[in-house]
Order: sequence, then structure tokens, then C-alpha cells
Amino acid sequence: MQAIREFFGSLMLTELLKGMKLTGKYFFARKITIQYPEEKTPMSPRFRGLHALRRYSNGEERCIACKLCEAVCPAMAITIESEVREDGSRRTNRYDIDLTKCIFCGFCEESCPVDSIVETHIHEYHGEKRGDLYFTKPMLLAIGDKYEPEIAQNRAQDARYR
Ligand code: SF4
Ligand code: SF4
Repeated sequence: MQAIREFFGSLMLTELLKGMKLTGKYFFARKITIQYPEEKTPMSPRFRGLHALRRYSNGEERCIACKLCEAVCPAMAITIESEVREDGSRRTNRYDIDLTKCIFCGFCEESCPVDSIVETHIHEYHGEKRGDLYFTKPMLLAIGDKYEPEIAQNRAQDARYR
């Protein structure tokens, strides 16, 4: 019975008609193709792009050199060295991320107790040689300073789920 059904289906070109029906349906539907990079799709506040180190509003670095992010990083991409300042606070004197190792898992930002290391929405960057993707503390702080309003807004949007 199945073979007969398949024979007549093949004879009447039903598969072709089904395909044309589907094509016709989407021919008039709203198009979802976008012209990247001129057009962009909406981005989640949880998007995990380029890293940044944040400061408090008084300019003080958030990072307290607890090294949780370094310990949790599965790719061992983070290198931290710390020192104790004259005021007794502990701060990093080296905070490097090797983005050629990073797998953008987000564990570093999840582990940070003070929301210091975060992943931003920035994904349009590149390096032309290996060292270009080795981000040092001043570079990470500069990204944080530049994009702080957007970072803070994204964190606020996601706060109720954290
Ligand atoms: S996103 Fe993941 S792999 Fe990349 S630095 Fe953070 S913890 Fe490491
Ligand atoms: S970025 Fe956060 S988790 Fe990493 S060392 Fe600094 S305070 Fe600790």
C-alpha cells in the first residue's frame, strides 16, 4: 500500500507542489534577512563579548584581586598578580586576559563578587597577530570606562535573574 501511495505521489509531483506551497508562503511573509553590518539584530543583555574591567562611580577599581575569576576560568586565560596598597587595600597590579584562549563561557563574570570583570556587547574586533588579542589591565579598564553606561544598563536589566 505504501509503495502504491509513493508511486502516485511521485506521478502527481506532490512533493514538488508541497515545496512550492512552502515557497509561496514565505515569498510574501515579512523578510527576516538583515543587511549586516549596516543592520543589526537585537542583542541580549547577557551577550558575552569583549571583556572589560569596571570602576565604581568615584573612579576606584572594583576589582579586589580575589582571583576567583582566574581560578574558575576553564581556559586558563586570565593572569592576575596583586599587591597591597599603602591604605591596606588589595588591588591587582597585573590583570591580563589572553583572548586567543578564551572560550567566552562567562564564568569569570559569574564568579566575580563585585561585578568587576564583565563581558560586553562588543563583538566586532579583531587581531592581526597573536599579541593583538592579549588584553592587559589598562586596556580592559579603558573598555570599561568607555562603555560603562551600557554595561550598567545591561546589568540592571539582568539583575532580577541573577
Ligand atoms: S569567558 Fe570563560 S574562558 Fe573567557 S576569560 Fe572568562 S572564564 Fe575564562
Ligand atoms: S575581577 Fe572579580 S573575581 Fe576577578 S580578581 Fe577581580 S574581584 Fe576577583
